[in-house]
Amino acid sequence: MTYEEWFDSHSTKHKTIVTKLHERGMDKKQIIDYFDFDNMVLHEREFCLLYQENKKCHEVETLNCYLCACPHFRFDDNSTTKIEEKTEYSFCAINAKEGKKFISQNAIHQDCTACLVPHSKEFISKCFDMEWKKIMDKCKRP
Ligand code: SF4
Repeated sequence: MTYEEWFDSHSTKHKTIVTKLHERGMDKKQIIDYFDFDNMVLHEREFCLLYQENKKCHEVETLNCYLCACPHFRFDDNSTTKIEEKTEYSFCAINAKEGKKFISQNAIHQDCTACLVPHSKEFISKCFDMEWKKIMDKCKRP
């Protein structure tokens, strides 16, 4: 699956859930709370592949999934950016200290597995919009 395919598919799933919650009369705080991993894994099993295994993407006690993925993530499936002859397909716009690079023979991808920036309720609350794609509007490049 390309970045763009995942992005579009995830956006659709996110919108379906948020629309349902909005129709139930939930406010911003209630919607964010609904996206807590412990609730999502019970009620929205199709939202994330890891939910099928009751597994978190980060081993922390409290994980909120409203901002999977991260607004600071940048990707380009057709990238021509070269770093030491490898193509860079994704990177972190703020160069977060917990971010890493996954480097293979020909490609460089951003590795966010150690970074918790988009999973805190404070961060989500600051970036909040009912439209996930609006929050993520800078992710897809160019
Ligand atoms: S390293 Fe952290 S801040 Fe940067 S894109 Fe990944 S999750 Fe977001």
